[in-house]
Amino acid sequence: MTVAAPPREDRGAAMESSESTEPEGIERPHDPSPEELQEPHKAPQGPIKVVHAFWLAGMSCDGCSISVTGATNPSVEQLLTGSISGLPTVVLHHPVLSVEAGEEFIEPFDRAAEGKLDAPYVVIYEGSIADERIAAETNGYFSAMGDQVMEGSDARPFPTAARLAVMAPNAAAVIAIGTCATWGGIPAAAGNPTGSMSLMDFLGADYRSSLGLPVINIPGCAPIGDNFTETVAAILLFLQGMGPLPEFDELGRPAWLFTETVHRGCTRAGYYEEGSFAENYGDKECLVEVGCWGPVVNCNIVSRGAQSHMGGCMAVGGVCIGCTMPGFPDKFAPFYKAPPGSFVSSTASKTLGFGIRRLRTLSHDNVNREVRWDAVNGGRVPSGWGEVGKPGVIDKTVHYFYEKLQFRGGKKPGRDDGRIYAGDLPPRAEGMDVVEDRSAPGPRT
Ligand code: SF4
Repeated sequence: MTVAAPPREDRGAAMESSESTEPEGIERPHDPSPEELQEPHKAPQGPIKVVHAFWLAGMSCDGCSISVTGATNPSVEQLLTGSISGLPTVVLHHPVLSVEAGEEFIEPFDRAAEGKLDAPYVVIYEGSIADERIAAETNGYFSAMGDQVMEGSDARPFPTAARLAVMAPNAAAVIAIGTCATWGGIPAAAGNPTGSMSLMDFLGADYRSSLGLPVINIPGCAPIGDNFTETVAAILLFLQGMGPLPEFDELGRPAWLFTETVHRGCTRAGYYEEGSFAENYGDKECLVEVGCWGPVVNCNIVSRGAQSHMGGCMAVGGVCIGCTMPGFPDKFAPFYKAPPGSFVSSTASKTLGFGIRRLRTLSHDNVNREVRWDAVNGGRVPSGWGEVGKPGVIDKTVHYFYEKLQFRGGKKPGRDDGRIYAGDLPPRAEGMDVVEDRSAPGPRT
């Protein structure tokens, strides 16, 4: 049955009639007006109120953009509405997501490049940077946005690489998002005809933003959206003077996100340790023998999940093909084949894991039993779901010595009341009597 809430007016009347229950001197908050409900929540901001984010795309599939729109911690919406304490409102200029088009869309890019923008800006580049000189030989271009007017000639498409070159010097930060932008990625794979390269290769080791930062790299194909928005939020806090410069490793990756290997945070790492390996896709064990490179890849995809802590390659059955790494894809080919180095480590873990698995099975079987089950009725488990085996002589012997070690030098904690179980037979649900004399066996039902 559904009980309808009273109409708003009645609720007001009810509140008024119960005046006596309200604490004195405390004003009841008013119901927000429709106008107030429309207003986006604004958090207190720091000295910088607005930061522009210019998104440029080179040789990309737009996967990075899609991934970032799914970020939740923080979300793009939170950054754009200035609803995070201390952070400025971000004005995003994105070739796909912006509502402006044509001249109106391009004009702020030009103003930023000319140093005429009234607020700081960051440049975000998605996709790798093709060598536009190759395309220019045949009067073409690889990736462009807007027009470039050259003296004495007609306007021609303005390559995004050239836009980056003119915008990078005045940018507070230049962020390469996705493996194509960070290390060249698939467009830069061996045999490509475009001469594609990463932002680091394009801008060089000496490049520094107006804040003194080299290129910031957030790899992944596609990257985890939260890795990007979290890094942007940390940089904005630094820009506000409200936080330290986030820690980056020697390749410009956010150190707190990319120091560990994917293997260390993998949900299957326990299988690796016990020497249990999948033979086919779809098996639940460690995937190294069907082609996983996780032990040598810096990535947090399994510990963080692809989106909202859900998914992530190995969590959903995929092997790690190293998509966050500078050597991707060439150094990880052929995909779905066991890395040669895994033979040594998996053989070692199979050898050691064989013994460890058996010892753990003994302990597991023991802790998977109530103390009462061990003491009553010869170890029979009163489960209606199935037959549970009783501990054998070997189990009992091993656990006798195991407990000697476990409680060495101290008193065994927990229930030490084996006597009251003596002769006790399940079921105990009927006729429960309070055992008065705990030194004597309980009454039998
Ligand atoms: Fe490591 Fe890959 Fe195995 Fe996970 S599936 S434990 S990342 S080797």
